[in-house]
Amino acid sequence: MAEEIFNVKKDKNPSEWFTEIIKTAELADMRYGVKGFLVFQPWSVESMEKMYYHLEKNLKKRGHKKYWFPTLIPEKNFKLEGKHVEGFTPEVFWVESAGNEKLEERLALRPTSETAFYSMFSTWIRSYKDLPFRTYQRANVFRYDTKMTRPFLRSREFHWIETHCAFATKKAAYENVLDDMRSTKDVVFEVYGVPTLVFQRPQWDKFPGADNTYGADAITPSGKVIQQPSTHMLGQNFSKPFNVTFTDENEKEQHAYLTCYGPCVSRIFASVVLTHGDDKGLRFPFEIAPLQIVIVPILADKEPKVLVEAEKLKEKLEEEGFSVEIDDSDKRPGEKFYYWEMKGVPIRVELGPRDLAKKKVLLYRRDTEKKKEIAIKDIIKEVQKNGEELSKNLKKEANDNFKGIIKDCKSIAEVKKVVGKGIARANFCTCEMEGEACAEKIEKETGGEVRGIRIDTEEKAKGNCIVCGKKATQVIYIAKSY
Ligand SMILES: [Zn+2]
Repeated sequence: MAEEIFNVKKDKNPSEWFTEIIKTAELADMRYGVKGFLVFQPWSVESMEKMYYHLEKNLKKRGHKKYWFPTLIPEKNFKLEGKHVEGFTPEVFWVESAGNEKLEERLALRPTSETAFYSMFSTWIRSYKDLPFRTYQRANVFRYDTKMTRPFLRSREFHWIETHCAFATKKAAYENVLDDMRSTKDVVFEVYGVPTLVFQRPQWDKFPGADNTYGADAITPSGKVIQQPSTHMLGQNFSKPFNVTFTDENEKEQHAYLTCYGPCVSRIFASVVLTHGDDKGLRFPFEIAPLQIVIVPILADKEPKVLVEAEKLKEKLEEEGFSVEIDDSDKRPGEKFYYWEMKGVPIRVELGPRDLAKKKVLLYRRDTEKKKEIAIKDIIKEVQKNGEELSKNLKKEANDNFKGIIKDCKSIAEVKKVVGKGIARANFCTCEMEGEACAEKIEKETGGEVRGIRIDTEEKAKGNCIVCGKKATQVIYIAKSY
């Protein structure tokens, strides 16, 4: 149809679909002129603001207090933890001068803020009574990534939340790690509708400076994985060089156990787009849609009272906290419909003179693509109900697509057939460092990466490692990453 403004087959080429929808829906603009940096446009920003809101609400509920830390980290702090420096140094942007003067000490543009937070933890935390100590900040971080930029997925500046917490015992720290992962499920799945699998990463794939890393992987429509929030068990690796200590009940000085968690909103947004979009364009769960309702007045040029009624409806809906716009542009109704469907607005309200006479409107839902007539007096109730149903529906659809994506494999050859289209599950020797050679072999022969062992469900290995033939101790998952 000539009026269609977006029609890219998502299943055929998800990657092309993603590139095209970013441009057509005006989510981000790559033409800023600094390599690896892009401009996020209102349609993605509005949705990401709502995503932030839900994440922060969850963190606050769990006792995290919000901070705003400086963007710059002094080089001496940054260099305190050996493995951390080693891992991050190639990615750091440095500030070396100010005005015409060269700085005495270089300052790092934060690539992540462990070394900022823990330098202050050492002055704030004194006694066991100060623990647990839970913080977070909403920040943008900078990493000199040399791979090709992909909007939302890979760029040199990204927008995230990072939490930093201190505990008296290792057990309490680990409990918090599990809690972080539950929080991923509560927000990323329950609100954003993006299903994930939660893994403990192999030892060779952990965060620089951590004892262990736990990551949630979302799945793309083509069966690849996107790493989403990860939590790091830092043990005492940072509390020792940063001197984060407390006096325990017996007046003894102890080093705290630290954890950090980093849900990257701009990256999760990519998963939201990829998970819910269809051939017509974007679709959003109701709670995080940039715009929830669009009102399209019909024949308003001939009947001015249609527009007056549309304004009244908008006001009424806004009073209830919904985001609403009226499209009174001079485009034809059909064009407007296609446009807002492409933009992923969950609910469209159509209102014409004939509907008005009946005191009714037409309510269209983006997920079912069905219209129904409702009484104007019921509009609030109907919008609420249909918004909830739409979110539930998108979540169910996402979950159903997820099922069947995991395939059990008994050999490298079987893994090879699965990765790229799905996730392979196999028996493996170990995710401790000794297993790295087996993982390398898998990666070389299949192109898939070992994502780790599940921590959201219990699985027992049987038989032997599919690579070396030694007795298997773990069940691993193998996938290509996006
Ligand atoms: Zn092995």
